[in-house]
Amino acid sequence: MVLPQRIKEFKSPSTHVYKFKLLNQERVLEHNNEKCVGCGLCIHACPITGKVISWGTTHEEYIVIDLVKCVHCGVCAYFCPSGALKLFINGEERIELKENVEQLERHSLPDLEPVMLGRTTTGAPILKYLQGTLKIPDKLEPSESMNAMKACPTGALSQAGNRIVLDENKCFYCDACSHAAGGKIVPIRTRLLIDFKDGVSPIVTRIIERMMDEQAASRILKGASGYKAREKTKLLIDHLGE
Ligand code: SF4
Ligand code: SF4
Repeated sequence: MVLPQRIKEFKSPSTHVYKFKLLNQERVLEHNNEKCVGCGLCIHACPITGKVISWGTTHEEYIVIDLVKCVHCGVCAYFCPSGALKLFINGEERIELKENVEQLERHSLPDLEPVMLGRTTTGAPILKYLQGTLKIPDKLEPSESMNAMKACPTGALSQAGNRIVLDENKCFYCDACSHAAGGKIVPIRTRLLIDFKDGVSPIVTRIIERMMDEQAASRILKGASGYKAREKTKLLIDHLGE
């Protein structure tokens, strides 16, 4: 057997597994399409440069993972709002970058502080950790409006006359309606519900830059690193006082 091996196969009719086998380790990224709401947030969350996760072509497979580029880090699973993605390392469900914070300090993921938004049609919870606004143009083709409303996993969009309107309480600022309307609807994500008390690591910096509105990203990163600097200074002062 030639290693490493990369295999994509079905675990069940609705679940694809993406396997990465080394001599002493097997990493499996599992995507359950029944739990998936087709929000596309994992596409942004993946910290690897290049298109590792992309939209699938049918609702039978909302997203597709490029096995050659995927490093099986599990960041997509950490940010998936419906638990559709899971990473298993040697059979154990884990998100490695969330654990071993001491060894991985430069890469660790901070605590998300999501709120529960509702449930998918299959009963999976949908978590909201992004705030923002949604730019909906006045003029959309009827098919674009219809597709956007159909794609929204939470029913946040509805028809009012010849416009579509947003119920902000139901929106988690994903990409589903934007993708369905050919990019004419634009989510502008300005807030990320993350506990930044430990500052931001390079991986999180990259994720924030990819996921958020540009101005919001620079504000968040400035604020977060300022916090880290203050904490470090405090630690130093405490230490000097010993
Ligand atoms: S983040 Fe989760 S729910 Fe959203 S598209 Fe990716 S796998 Fe599906
Ligand atoms: S209305 Fe909000 S929750 Fe619904 S698809 Fe659009 S961005 Fe996602």
